[in-house]
Amino acid sequence: MSAYIVGVLVPLLLTLLLRNSKNSKKRGLLVDVGGEPGYAIRNRRVTSPVQTAWEGISSLAELFERSCKVYRDKHLLGTRKLIAREIEVTKDGRSFEKLHLGDYEWLTYGKAFEVVCNFASGLAQLGHKREERVAIFADTREEWFIALQGCFRRNVTVVTIYASLGEEALCHSLNETEVATVICGHKELKKIIEISGQLDTVKHVICMDDEIPSNASYVEQSKSWKITSFADVEILGRQNPLDADLPLSADIAVIMYTSGSTGLPKGVMMTHANVLATVSAVMTIVPGLGSNDIYLAYLPLAHILELAAENVMAAVGTAIGYGSPLTLTDTSSKIKKGTKGDASMLLPTVMTAVPAILDRVRDGVLKKVNATGGLSKKLFHLAYDRSLSAVNGSWFGAWGLERVLWNFLVFRNVRAVLGGRIRFLLSGGAPLSSDTQRFINICLGAPIGQGYGLTETTAGATFSEFDDASVGRVGAPLPCSFIKLIDWPEGGYLTSDSPKPRGEIVVGGPNVTLGYFKNEEKTKESYKVDERGMRWFYTGDIGQFHADGCLEIIDRKKDIVKLQHGEYVSLGKVEAVLQVSPYIDNIMLHADPFHSYCVALVVPSQHTVEDWASKQGIPFTDFADLCKKEETKKEVLASIQKEAKRARLQRFEIPAKIKLLSELWTPESGLVTAALKLKRDIIKKTFSEDLSNLYAS
Ligand code: AMP
Repeated sequence: MSAYIVGVLVPLLLTLLLRNSKNSKKRGLLVDVGGEPGYAIRNRRVTSPVQTAWEGISSLAELFERSCKVYRDKHLLGTRKLIAREIEVTKDGRSFEKLHLGDYEWLTYGKAFEVVCNFASGLAQLGHKREERVAIFADTREEWFIALQGCFRRNVTVVTIYASLGEEALCHSLNETEVATVICGHKELKKIIEISGQLDTVKHVICMDDEIPSNASYVEQSKSWKITSFADVEILGRQNPLDADLPLSADIAVIMYTSGSTGLPKGVMMTHANVLATVSAVMTIVPGLGSNDIYLAYLPLAHILELAAENVMAAVGTAIGYGSPLTLTDTSSKIKKGTKGDASMLLPTVMTAVPAILDRVRDGVLKKVNATGGLSKKLFHLAYDRSLSAVNGSWFGAWGLERVLWNFLVFRNVRAVLGGRIRFLLSGGAPLSSDTQRFINICLGAPIGQGYGLTETTAGATFSEFDDASVGRVGAPLPCSFIKLIDWPEGGYLTSDSPKPRGEIVVGGPNVTLGYFKNEEKTKESYKVDERGMRWFYTGDIGQFHADGCLEIIDRKKDIVKLQHGEYVSLGKVEAVLQVSPYIDNIMLHADPFHSYCVALVVPSQHTVEDWASKQGIPFTDFADLCKKEETKKEVLASIQKEAKRARLQRFEIPAKIKLLSELWTPESGLVTAALKLKRDIIKKTFSEDLSNLYAS
């Protein structure tokens, strides 16, 4: 009997108590603010926005120096040793590069500080002046972070550029900011050399790799550029050390070119104070985050989500191990068969992800479960359904002892894909579907904190708390931000709406950036300072507040299209729902005011569609051929419509016709941003004929 009480009743009562206390927990509170009237909420833990969490620290350079002193002998930066690079040729003659990577090699905080100081001195000795700008144009890697901190120590502003940025946008960003030094990898150096004729201000190039492209010397002569290796800059600085020239909090740390989902990218100017405010706030989100944690870094550092995250980790003593999207897991495309991916080598405890990546993880797990079939498949679905009922509150068993059993029997294997030790996953940058959030949450057994923010607000705005088990919301305001909703009558969203106030999201606080570089007009349009001196950014996103002070993103001004009969379609919202279909890899919904229905461009998931076709006995030569078949289109459309009905979309929101495309949309193809967001205008242009045909047919 006593075993029954301890084993069953106690967990049950605890679950009930916890659930009730969590449900009634106020996470955000009403606050009186200046500026345009609206409905404003603050974080429950602060009455005014936090500027810095460390007394006397007012810049990122000071913060890094402090960390390196406090955590001196702890690991800071880790990179995997390259054992071999091999070319694998498939049966059909295509060749792929595979990497055999070894263990992580680490720099301690103390050693990293030395390298940063040397790099800072080397940069100055190279002839780069304080008032000139440096651009970092490279994939995420250890040298990126060192270069960033090195520039901060000399108060040099860093321009960040996505490694996947197209030629036009690249020239635009480098010329607009009059960059004097470009720091890049050898792959990006090739691009820089190709456009050298269009670059007016570049004098020095620092290459992170030892390999320098063969045509580099020609450019060095004709453009009088100096190309130096990263290692040589460090040696130069070590041999000729200079005192630091530290920035003030109001100095511009970074000019970040936005991912540019529309038109040419805009440079967002962020000060040291802006980034420091976000770092100070975000570090409070993960309880106990510190030197026992290991963070797997693989998202683009040129995006504010990763830049902020790595600065948070380095501020609290966490180890940062570098990886890449193509080497993340044992089965990632660039990993040599039989060797370890980044996650199983690093065993991280914390990771960030963008929703598109989590959608792929979910599809991958389901694919594996379905392929195994039999008892394992049944067990997985039983475990998943029981856990889902437990989290949704319709059944309590699995949250107690049974959960331990499911974790051991079923989810342990899923967790092992990411190393098995993840205790918190941060997702941000785009809407995360509730289904995916719950799926990953249950399978990983760890909470997914959803953050909402923009480059213009230095990533900070809201963040869901560790103990918030709900899905589909982005949490309460971070301690650095006030969030205000204002009426948008044209779109039908009002703060007086019941039961939840709705409106355009406006973010206020020290994390709101200075504005757009050399674009006063756009800055004036979106940024306002109120009579109390608070700086606000008008996001164009539409949100609603829940009773506990948590925000839900429900729309985006730019993504709303009014159909012929006056119904509004929110493209992003519908895409997030349809993306859940296992048949979809990429989808873009298209709505047009001259038509009464929507259409969609879809890149189907190759393995799902090919599996289906094989089972149906449908002959095909290759994937492109399969995508042209009427049966395939019907099958994918039926799956889309099923998801749409499940999510209770209105009839006019569901695509009536679709076009299947066989080439995946990647940042390299220029159709999605580095954070995997759709570049609608470019997709529309690229497939304009297909779209016209869809409406015409
Ligand atoms: P960027 O500045 O490129 O990071 O893009 C910011 C935009 O991404 C915001 O204006 C939102 O539209 C979107 N966004 C960011 N985080 C979220 C989120 N958690 N949920 C929904 N949309 C998001």
